[in-house]
Amino acid sequence: MRLYNTMSNKLEEFEPIEEGKVKMYVCGPTVYNYIHLGNARPIVVFDILARYFKYRGYDVTYVQNFTDVDDKIIKRANEEKVSPEKITEKYIQSFFEDTEPLNVLKDIKRPRVTENINEIIEITEKLIENGYAYEIDGNVFFDVKKYNDYGKLSNQKISELEIGARVDIMEIKNNPLDFALWKKKKDGEPYWDSPWGEGRPGWHIECSAMSRKYLGDTFDIHGGGQDLIFPHHENEIAQSKCAYHGHFAKYWLHNGFVQIDGDKMSKSMGNFFLLREILGKFSGNVVRLFILSTHYRKPINFSFEDMENTRKTLKNMISSLKRFEAVLKNLQSLINHNNLKKIERTDELYKFIEEFKEKSDDFNNKFIRAMDEDLNTPQALSTIFDQIREMNKFSDIIEKISDKEKSEKSELLSEVLNLSYKSLKIKIEDVLGVLMINEEKASNSELSEKLMKLLLKIRSDARKNKNFELSDEIRDGLRKIGVEIKDNKDGTTDYTLV
Ligand SMILES: [Zn+2]
Repeated sequence: MRLYNTMSNKLEEFEPIEEGKVKMYVCGPTVYNYIHLGNARPIVVFDILARYFKYRGYDVTYVQNFTDVDDKIIKRANEEKVSPEKITEKYIQSFFEDTEPLNVLKDIKRPRVTENINEIIEITEKLIENGYAYEIDGNVFFDVKKYNDYGKLSNQKISELEIGARVDIMEIKNNPLDFALWKKKKDGEPYWDSPWGEGRPGWHIECSAMSRKYLGDTFDIHGGGQDLIFPHHENEIAQSKCAYHGHFAKYWLHNGFVQIDGDKMSKSMGNFFLLREILGKFSGNVVRLFILSTHYRKPINFSFEDMENTRKTLKNMISSLKRFEAVLKNLQSLINHNNLKKIERTDELYKFIEEFKEKSDDFNNKFIRAMDEDLNTPQALSTIFDQIREMNKFSDIIEKISDKEKSEKSELLSEVLNLSYKSLKIKIEDVLGVLMINEEKASNSELSEKLMKLLLKIRSDARKNKNFELSDEIRDGLRKIGVEIKDNKDGTTDYTLV
């Protein structure tokens, strides 16, 4: 398998540090707001990477943190006049709610900064001890000039960076490029005791501390969005390498942005769609399929039209899968002791079966080749669509043959079709994470929504026509099945599930 390593700017052969094992760390969200579609991209991309490693037989340890101490969280808490914990608890909860329909792996380790303060203090002390960090008035800074390789990941030289760095006269740092490992406590901010007095960690140090705790000084993959390359990942490298002299991450993977009309989707730009808004209109499967239809390093341009097309694609995919299930069920019902396990070469079906078996194997190889080439999910998807097309053709043939012949050969036909179907389902569900059952759930809730609207309309018409018997019957009937309705002054009706 080859992966594009941002560190070398090249496609590199993936060789795990430890045979059969993959350890990966992906920077997680700062929990002060609902996540938007741009935040959802790395979640889906690295989920697919982890799933693919599992599919290839690796034992995967995947860590993604929650940043639950940060300026933005404190600002939000002050604005809402609540504690920072109140904010972080709310948005960690909403993170799980929002990502649930995306069917993300359940075994991801999700440490929080506030639970790792000791580890953060330990690495900060180590950096001071090794001469890479210094304390000024209760603050600790990393001394960028001490680390010669600083800028390697983002392809920049310290001298170039210094020209661009703004010198703030209020700053107490030795060098404008130096960054905070520990920040002295300010009024109204959360704080912890430390050897440098009360304070809180800087942003970058948390990932160095948490990746080490769960994955060690050297691990396989570090991922995140492109916007994290500088300064965040550059700083993580400086911290981890200077503290423990390990290799830190071997492969650095970065996903491209989600854009709207060519601009990066971001909270600061105000041009974003929250994941929960999108999930109100499309299923989690559609979102996943939309994201993996573009190679992870390329930008995705978001549009509702493309989402709508993805929905149609998914619908076709699922109706084909259902068709194969039906064909298989029918074949299996015909199996009896008279079934032929082998057929003669002269048999007309022989050619089709042999061809189909060959093609099925080939689809698996093509899928692996695509995924092996830097996780080329659009290519992998196209092999899946090709396989579906062939399976549909094969199903057409099965449906056309006479009942007698179908009955005789049902065991063989079912075996051949089932093999292809199973491999297809593993690729779609286990690797790409598109779960059929979720689609049924989503379409069921869509249907319930429509039925509720219809029912409320009938009730409202009944009330207009003074048919109170019917309108009460609907209200009482709904209450019995756990739906409480409430009539508003403006004539509309709300309903809640109780
Ligand atoms: Zn990080």
